[in-house]
Amino acid sequence: MKAQPKASHFVDGAWLEDRAGAPVEVIYPATGEVIAVVHEATPAVIEAALASSARAQAAWAATRPVDRARILRRAADLIRERNPALARLETLDTGKPLQETLVADWPSGADALEYFAGLAPTVTGETIPLGRDFVYTLREPLGVCVGIGAWNYPSQIACWKSAPALALGNAMVFKPSEVTPLGALQLAEIYIEAGLPPGLFNVVQGRGAVGAALVTDPRVAKVSLTGSVPTGQKVYAAAAAGVRHVTMELGGKSPLIVFDDASVEDAVGAAMLGNFYSAGQVCSNGTRVFVQKGIKDRFLARLAERSARIVLGDPLDEATQMGPLVSAGQLEKVLGYIATGRAEGARLITGGARASLNTGYYVQPTVFADVTDSMTIAREEIFGPVMAVLDFDTEEEVLARANATDFGLAAGVFTADLARAHRVIAGLQAGTCWINAYNLTPVEAPFGGAKRSGVGRENGHAAVEHYSQIKSVYVGMGSVDAPY
Ligand code: NDP
Repeated sequence: MKAQPKASHFVDGAWLEDRAGAPVEVIYPATGEVIAVVHEATPAVIEAALASSARAQAAWAATRPVDRARILRRAADLIRERNPALARLETLDTGKPLQETLVADWPSGADALEYFAGLAPTVTGETIPLGRDFVYTLREPLGVCVGIGAWNYPSQIACWKSAPALALGNAMVFKPSEVTPLGALQLAEIYIEAGLPPGLFNVVQGRGAVGAALVTDPRVAKVSLTGSVPTGQKVYAAAAAGVRHVTMELGGKSPLIVFDDASVEDAVGAAMLGNFYSAGQVCSNGTRVFVQKGIKDRFLARLAERSARIVLGDPLDEATQMGPLVSAGQLEKVLGYIATGRAEGARLITGGARASLNTGYYVQPTVFADVTDSMTIAREEIFGPVMAVLDFDTEEEVLARANATDFGLAAGVFTADLARAHRVIAGLQAGTCWINAYNLTPVEAPFGGAKRSGVGRENGHAAVEHYSQIKSVYVGMGSVDAPY
């Protein structure tokens, strides 16, 4: 199986190769096979990317928003036309099953292009009357933005970052995760085919050092990172040296609270989606499932039954419901957390081992019950198919325990009592919340975290704030009244 791109980078409207950069092997996680090799960006590639973005951005900022929007809509149409092939590539890059990549990854990226195409021409300033004089405001692009992606949703992340950036008149240099470098290159080629001027969306490959070189370049006005909290802290600090704008979409350890009046079937389904979709490699997952004691036994029984039926297998077979983890490193990390869960006394309900397929980085869907707040698996982000179920008695108690973490990305509540649902949501310290649903992230809704889970928001009208800045213009209508 091969998925070798035409070159490692896409810069200034064309594929670009520079073999002087260190090679990075792209591995298909279902087999361990090397499907492509790309080279890290050299200083020359980074320079070409930033220089062409800076050059192209000035002219792009001067175009009418409706003209920018037309190009983004065309690109969205191309993505939808090519979705089957793009989904297959996403599956090879990440190991996620086609059953998911066909409906979730590029389709959600295309939604972002359509949404921000529609939004851009409606973005206006305001007029502030001051009697004789007045102020008007303009919402202007920031300039050259850097996007840095994680490996779990590589193409969706590239779309979610580039769509608002481009729609509002910015350019973007994007660095995918070294683990999943393929999808963003396809997006760059599609943008050019759709009519985007060269240089406005460049893709350069590399590990953290390439990201760090981009973040500290004086031409860069904004950095948007999706990644872990430790990387976020480093990138935020580097961006701060140049007083750059940032969006930080970081990790989480989100609570999903199930009250005993909830529908067991719906709550179990949501908990499974919020822990096992993409083999658990989703930042907003509800990995601390708090279940009220009155419903606990029924909840665990149905959860064990339904989890044991999940179909693991060849990600390219559309019947497969769960694929492997993204890498050998991630497999080791997740197996380590499972071992720690056992050692610290959590009760294994189902799963708990590497899945017995011949190859690939598969882990069984795993559920631990009787988890306590102090256990490692209840405190640290695992990023694998490992659910921790904790018991609780009262609303007050569960709210305090749910908030007792430095993370604040997401939270969910299942209950038939809607007054309680809104009350609990009001008390939860999290940026993205659900009531009687979990992990649905439509592009219309702002997405992002509180506390250490991030700064800024992606998607929705909120993203406009993070890819533009206000210019305030005072207009003097009379003579200047100077005292000297
Ligand atoms: P990492 O934090 O390891 O890496 C994120 C990106 O930053 C990668 O492209 C990485 O490059 C790059 N990078 C690493 N060091 C630096 C640096 N010093 N300067 C600039 N860039 C750098 O995250 P993972 O890729 O392992 O992704 C998993 C994490 O992402 C999880 O913690 C998850 O919660 C989070 N995540 C958050 C989401 C959200 O929206 N809130 C969504 C999805 C994931 P390289 O990998 O090549 O080293």
